[in-house]
Amino acid sequence: MKCRKCGGRAVLELRRHNTAFCAGDFLDFFRHQTLETIRRWKMLSRDEPVLVAVSGGKDSLALWDVLLEAGYTTAGLYIDLGIFDYSRESKARCQAFAAGRDARLIVVSVAEEVGAGIPQVKDVTRRPTCSACGLSKRYIMNRAALDHGFGVVATGHNLDDEAATLLGSTLRWDESSLARQTPVLEATHPKLVRRVKPLFRTSERETAAYAFLRGIDYIVEECPFARGATSITHKEVLNRLEDASPGSKASFLTTSLERARPRFQAAEPVDLRECVRCGQTTTGEVCAFCKLSDQVRRAGEAPSKTHAARCSQTLQT
Ligand code: SF4
Ligand SMILES: [Zn+2]
Ligand SMILES: [Zn+2]
Repeated sequence: MKCRKCGGRAVLELRRHNTAFCAGDFLDFFRHQTLETIRRWKMLSRDEPVLVAVSGGKDSLALWDVLLEAGYTTAGLYIDLGIFDYSRESKARCQAFAAGRDARLIVVSVAEEVGAGIPQVKDVTRRPTCSACGLSKRYIMNRAALDHGFGVVATGHNLDDEAATLLGSTLRWDESSLARQTPVLEATHPKLVRRVKPLFRTSERETAAYAFLRGIDYIVEECPFARGATSITHKEVLNRLEDASPGSKASFLTTSLERARPRFQAAEPVDLRECVRCGQTTTGEVCAFCKLSDQVRRAGEAPSKTHAARCSQTLQT
């Protein structure tokens, strides 16, 4: 198999693009595809600092690498979920990545914010683990960006992640999820920052190849709570479709964004206000994160010093 660009030996075949590349030309292709997505979807401007949410996995570190190489002003945000060895090892990967590139890494710990790490939160709330974790990550991402003066957060969600989320939402006809899923979630309130997904057109296989060829040391193990998750089944089903018909995942996602999402969005207007406790956005009186912290506190865990301090400040002002 030959590289389509230079005729040298190809290391990666991309059936969906009907092409193959050598290592050097694949890296160029990957960077170009990412930067072109950013340009076409107006995700980032050159003079705007961007906070990159990094988990220690291949996708987010590959994204941070591309943005640094392209000259964007960035900082990494690592959210320590307190999930045993998985969190310890993923944090070490992010710290080593940042140190090796002289880049700034902001670390926020869920245990300090909520009063307990995700495994304990799982034990004291009735929410599924990934739901409590996802809620905490979205909240902390937004607040860390506001606290540190960033107007935009970039995440490493790839094509496989996005297509699997879309399949899950479609199977449930979850209209609010279908309305919200987009590569660019605009800031619709002064207390919200923009969220962008520059890798949403890039497959997991491509980000793994990029990270490997760039020598990025990322955590290969999945989070222990990912085992048995329905999103994994959805990914397997989509992989079978992709095998039979290359390009299916991308087409499923892009046609949904073009044709279906605008309709769901129009049917689901969201009225945001500020949480009376912490000042972050919510649709009710008290945001879901404050309610989660309350549940943890009531269950006898140590109250979150950071979050309690913020709440009392907000109530006094
Ligand atoms: S798989 Fe792990 S890291 Fe991912 S949302 Fe679930 S608990 Fe959080
Ligand atoms: Zn080549
Ligand atoms: Zn709140």
